[in-house]
This record gives sequence, structure tokens and C-alpha cells, in this order.
Amino acid sequence: MTTPEDIAKLRFLPHPEAERFDSVTVDIAERWKESELSGDEWRFSYVITFWRHGDPIAQVSGPSVEKALIVAAYEFSRIEVEGAKGYMGDLSAYCCQPGCPNPWEVLKHPITRYERYSGANTGPYKPNDVRAFCDRHRDRGDCALDDADRNYIELDATNPFYDKA
Ligand SMILES: [Zn+2]
Repeated sequence: MTTPEDIAKLRFLPHPEAERFDSVTVDIAERWKESELSGDEWRFSYVITFWRHGDPIAQVSGPSVEKALIVAAYEFSRIEVEGAKGYMGDLSAYCCQPGCPNPWEVLKHPITRYERYSGANTGPYKPNDVRAFCDRHRDRGDCALDDADRNYIELDATNPFYDKA
């Protein structure tokens, strides 16, 4: 059994290709304007939502889809999220597969750190480093260097915050 105290000692790492937000959506926001002076009309704006593991994290808006997208691209790395647990969010809460909203069921200790683009071996991970995966994403394959089954030791752990039943 893994207790919350055991979990607190671990350092949950993001997926090597994780970005701050894993999904961005655009929605139209319509509003009926009434005015005795200028008349009535439908008005529109566009709301961009930044998502991480299925949670809406932040929103920006603009008067057209194009302008809202330009604002979103500008703000992507600048958005400060009140109450967020660090730049990448609370990594101990989810499977680290980008976009996955599932709670983790498996903890894996990555052995060797490889640079993302060059593939250079940059030394071992720290002993308390882990990546968390749900059951669907527990198999990591044999193609990558860092995020590959051969580069992980699966830990004997259960998620104390997740009741599977
Ligand atoms: Zn997952």
C-alpha cells in the first residue's frame, strides 16, 4: 500500500514532450444586445480555453476567431495561473500522457535521462523521480529512448487518492 506520505516524497515528472497546455479550444460567445437608442442585435466574441489533462486552466477572448487566436498564441507562455501547482500543474494528480484526464494507476521510475532532440544520455534520474500513468497508457513502447519500457522500473505502488471501484 502506498500512503499519501509516500507519495509526497516522490518527484512527479512531466512526459518528456508535455507542454504547459495540451489542448486549446475556440468557442463562440453570443449575446443579445437591446437598446432603445441604437436598436437590438446579436453580438459575438470568441473565447479560447487552454486545457490541461481535461481541466480548463485559463481563457482569453477576442472579437474574431483570428484575433482571439493571435491573443492565444501570444499568451500561451505568459498566462499565470492562480493556485496552479507549478508551471506544469499538479503532476501527482494525473496520468502524465499529454491530454489524458485519468488518475494514475501505475508509477514508473525513469532510469536514464535522454535529451529530447539529440538523444544524448545526460545521466541518471534522481531516485525519487517518477512518471505516473493510467492503465491505458502504462505501456510505453520500444521506439523512444527516455519514454520507453526499457528505461523504466515499475514501482510497487497504488494511488491512495484514487478509488478504482
Ligand atoms: Zn493516461
